[in-house]
Amino acid sequence: MFQLAPLPFSVNALDPQLGTQTIEIHYGKHHQTYVDNLNKLVAGTSLAATRLEEIIVATANDVKAAGIFNNAAQVWNHSFYWECMQPQGGGKATGKVAELISAKWGSFEKFAEEFKSAGLSQFGSGWAWLVLDKGEPAITKTANADTPLAHGQKPLLTVDVWEHAYYLNYQNRRAEYLDVFIGKLINWDFVNSNL
Ligand code: MN
Repeated sequence: MFQLAPLPFSVNALDPQLGTQTIEIHYGKHHQTYVDNLNKLVAGTSLAATRLEEIIVATANDVKAAGIFNNAAQVWNHSFYWECMQPQGGGKATGKVAELISAKWGSFEKFAEEFKSAGLSQFGSGWAWLVLDKGEPAITKTANADTPLAHGQKPLLTVDVWEHAYYLNYQNRRAEYLDVFIGKLINWDFVNSNL
């Protein structure tokens, strides 16, 4: 059985940037439902004892396994997203990631602008990412449940831009949510730990 990974902070820890109700519903309902659906879909199959990352890679290009892929990827993406945030986080990158960003984008501000733009321009539901692609830092976006793991990329940072991630706090103002995520929520220690 796959389990819902523990939240790395309490449900009210990101308030007011992301309020308690946002986290309770996003984590306790949406993320939990992906876990429950995945468990139902793989019950009695060899995938029930397979690592989540392996399920994602194995089902990524299999249209018959789309339900399994979507739920497995959403389980993984959300666990990763929670770790990408912390109270009093955000602001300029630190550590080795700061060096990679300045080598690739010239300045943190330029990186932040492009990361925000990736999140804003994802039409409909999806995710924006900082990844390593063949060892090179890159900003990407994915639709719905899609994830860099399915494309051979190494995720370093993500932001969920499904409306359920921000609607209770920001309604239609995705740009404001992205500004707050970058300015006040990113856990750069976690991002560095993914290198
Ligand atoms: Mn979500």
